[in-house]
Amino acid sequence: MPNERTLWTAAHCRHYAMCKIDYLGTGLCAAGTAKPYVAYFPQGRMDIVDALSRSLIPVTEGLLDIADSCDLCGACDLQCHFYTSLRPLPVMAALKHAAAEHRRSGTPAVRAPTDSLVDEIRAIVGPEWVSNDPAVTVAYSHDPFPLAPPRMPRAVVLPGSAQDVEAVVRLAAREGVPFAVRGNGASVYAQVYSEGLVLDMVRMREMEFDPANWTVTVGPGVTAFDLQREAVQRGFRVNVAEPAATVVGNILCTGLFSPWSAAYGTGADHVIDMEFVDRTGRRFYLMDPDGGGTAHLAYRHRVGEVPGVCTRAKVRLHPVTGDEAGMIVPFDGLEPALRFARDLARRRIGLALAVLGPHYLATFLSPTWTLAQAAKRAFSDDLGLGFGVLVVADRFGLESARALAGKPVIDQDVFRMLALGLPKAVERKTLDLLRATEGERPAVEVLSSPEARPVVEAVLSPSPATLAAAVEPDLREAYEQLYARPELTDFVWLNQFRIVSARMGRHKHILAFILFVPLDEALIASLCRRLGEIAEGAGLEHAYGFVTPIDMGKRAVLEYDWYIDQADPADKERTGQAMGVLLPWLDALCAGPDSNMTWLKTVFTQGSARKESWFYRDFKGRPEIA
Ligand SMILES: Cc1cc2nc3c(=O)[nH]c(=O)nc-3n(C[C@H](O)[C@H](O)[C@H](O)COP(=O)(O)OP(=O)(O)OC[C@H]3O[C@@H](n4cnc5c(N)ncnc54)[C@H](O)[C@@H]3O)c2cc1C
Ligand code: SF4
Repeated sequence: MPNERTLWTAAHCRHYAMCKIDYLGTGLCAAGTAKPYVAYFPQGRMDIVDALSRSLIPVTEGLLDIADSCDLCGACDLQCHFYTSLRPLPVMAALKHAAAEHRRSGTPAVRAPTDSLVDEIRAIVGPEWVSNDPAVTVAYSHDPFPLAPPRMPRAVVLPGSAQDVEAVVRLAAREGVPFAVRGNGASVYAQVYSEGLVLDMVRMREMEFDPANWTVTVGPGVTAFDLQREAVQRGFRVNVAEPAATVVGNILCTGLFSPWSAAYGTGADHVIDMEFVDRTGRRFYLMDPDGGGTAHLAYRHRVGEVPGVCTRAKVRLHPVTGDEAGMIVPFDGLEPALRFARDLARRRIGLALAVLGPHYLATFLSPTWTLAQAAKRAFSDDLGLGFGVLVVADRFGLESARALAGKPVIDQDVFRMLALGLPKAVERKTLDLLRATEGERPAVEVLSSPEARPVVEAVLSPSPATLAAAVEPDLREAYEQLYARPELTDFVWLNQFRIVSARMGRHKHILAFILFVPLDEALIASLCRRLGEIAEGAGLEHAYGFVTPIDMGKRAVLEYDWYIDQADPADKERTGQAMGVLLPWLDALCAGPDSNMTWLKTVFTQGSARKESWFYRDFKGRPEIA
């Protein structure tokens, strides 16, 4: 039996799929690359060990194969630690140990049950690409969403083409078997599992660039990180958010919003066209006016399902001018920060804009939770950095933003100093020194002013080694090598590849609430207060997330987060209690003819619609949510 710490780790896998992309450039799990079922990646092995320990699955033939495929290379330890501080390697070893013990016992491993549906699917997709082995299916049976029970799929299918999808969907329709579609499962809102089939789109990873028309056609298995890497190599950028999310899945479920949405938009703004297979197995296109696809450009105020299985999408490429850089404009309060961001958006200044709060600022920068907590306190209590407006822009945009700010800003150089010198920046003696010199200005402005730079640099001694000193001794060398790479402290790179944002959930799983609202600072402040009060009332941790202006600052995306221990039954209960208050309140705010806001609950699955149709009120008004 694995020790308590190992089992605790297995139970806390976040399911954000970061071990399914090579986001640190340290190599991808070879077992998962060869057989890309989730179960063969570290994420799946965490679930298997957890399920074994709770006797939810027996030792199966699939489990032995999965255990054998892991060579304990340790790549997952750094990938996982980087954003969660979890160390999954002992879990991987525990699985191998369980397999070895089982073999020693001489008991035969359990074989997957015979199932004629699975046989028929095998004939469509090929024998390797469907499985009903419980060790495989268990990795598709749940996610950390606390209010939905697990559902063990009858089988998991990895289609390789649109034709495969058509045939499998027709078969499911004929047999009356439900199915769920899965990109990388990182939506974590209980949407990607089903007691019928799960269609994992991971094999469909084609990318076809059309630079002359600034578009790229992607398969539904293409992740944000991989597409961005290819786009950047060709001198373009795509608007993507979480790196492990599939581009198609992200567009369909949230409309795909990010700080870049200030310039590049959201929802249907991303796409030239999308190809779907409907629930009867027929293909149709989003932009085909005669095929009914365009009906999906409108928003319906209800909880629905995706238009069909998306089998490819033609998405926009954006130009890169080569003189882009980033900065953070510091504010002590949310409302002035929102006003500044709105002003930039109205003037069309900046490509990526976001108002970040202390939780994001601190956790994005920190490789450990202890450092993040210290940074969060220091930013707001000592430096006067309660909120920061992130701006990525070309040279002209940055000059304008700087002029509008009219005060020292955290530019690329200061950012690098702060990022690599964070352990020293949060020391009491550094903070006292900064406060002693602040005078009329908050300490963050002293820290950011050009004349103070030599002193600040001497005090912070920013370097990969300084930052790496914050992590456990056996990981220091790896962190030092990682942070020696300039991109790890480069504003533009970090924002377009977004490898640090999942750090917001380092200590606990994130339950994110996304609202599409007018960019009105009093309204946003009051919504945040209420979201915080509801969490507080139930005893849940919570924090402001971010606001990004959309549509020239007429509207905005607001994220507010609750934090839960996904394996703690008490947190589950607290979440249920808080949701009981939140749901009627938010539903009422978003319904009725006068409502001018929408929340993700009804947009989810309609992300391919025009953003205007959920950001604004249309002629027909809004019904109650059914
Ligand atoms: C830490 C964190 C931060 C996040 N920040 C952001 C953010 O800033 N912006 C943002 O937009 N999102 C954000 N998200 C949400 C997340 O990126 C999206 O939910 C994204 O869709 C996840 O991608 P996925 O491939 O894992 O989708 P999945 O979870 O696999 O699927 C999401 C939904 O899309 C459906 N779906 C997936 N693929 C297809 C397909 N081919 N055809 C039909 N339906 C399909 C699924 O059935 C499901 O309903 C965040 C998530 C996390 C965990
Ligand atoms: S928590 Fe670790 S094992 Fe789980 S998905 Fe994330 S990187 Fe993979």
